[in-house]
Amino acid sequence: MRALHVWVDHDICVGNGTCLTIAPGVFRHNDSRQSEVIDPAGAPEAVILHAAANCPVGAIRVALAESGERLHP
Ligand code: SF4
Repeated sequence: MRALHVWVDHDICVGNGTCLTIAPGVFRHNDSRQSEVIDPAGAPEAVILHAAANCPVGAIRVALAESGERLHP
């Protein structure tokens, strides 16, 4: 499995929890009820990209850890 860098733009996350539902091993709510990444290896790459694609505001960023190549958006 390729190592990923996964992060959430807290300027736009509205905290609806879709990403937590899709990939609970990767995301959790922080004290501000916004999503934060707890483990970028907590789900298969396809599941993480599915979570990113289903974020209603496009707040999830995914890149390859080694090269920095952006996978989403
Ligand atoms: S799906 Fe998007 S808006 Fe909803 S909690 Fe996750 S990052 Fe935030």
